[in-house]
Amino acid sequence: MSSSSDWNPSLWLETFEDLVNDGGELDYGDSWTLNFNYSQTERVSKEERKKGWKVCNHHTIGNFRCANCRRTWPSGRVNVLFRYRLRGHKGTVIMRPFGQACRQCDDVFQFPGFSEEIVEAVLRKLCSKIRKNCYNEDEGETPRDMVKKWTKPHETALCEACEAGICNQRDDENHLCE
Ligand SMILES: [Zn+2]
Ligand SMILES: [Zn+2]
Repeated sequence: MSSSSDWNPSLWLETFEDLVNDGGELDYGDSWTLNFNYSQTERVSKEERKKGWKVCNHHTIGNFRCANCRRTWPSGRVNVLFRYRLRGHKGTVIMRPFGQACRQCDDVFQFPGFSEEIVEAVLRKLCSKIRKNCYNEDEGETPRDMVKKWTKPHETALCEACEAGICNQRDDENHLCE
């Protein structure tokens, strides 16, 4: 079993499939797939918007491990950016996890690792956005984030999402999640 400080795309893929296929989170008869793109941004061009693309950014809790000194650290502000659309009967979700750099090595950005609970919570929230934006369903209540309790200061200089300019919004007024 891989530790929750390692980036684990297959955990995301499996959880997504469970939620969509068995969990009935997107129960509209369309087929949805999850993909990864490690350089996408939150920008959606007019052209892309016309083709149905939407973006959604989540802040959540994750862990990092430095590939250099092996130090691990938790963060209450890990950014996970999704882009998604429904076309015909084919739904596509593209995910980008944003990294953080080790304070001691200040080297490259490391990808985040997540617990199973967090992966599920983030994907459930995403599914509720998709139901709202692709199927016109009422959003209902979105689960409250645990992030609010986190008090540790956020180290902007070590955060890839801060560098990309998408990290500094409050989660509950997240204009990226239409
Ligand atoms: Zn390090
Ligand atoms: Zn940041």
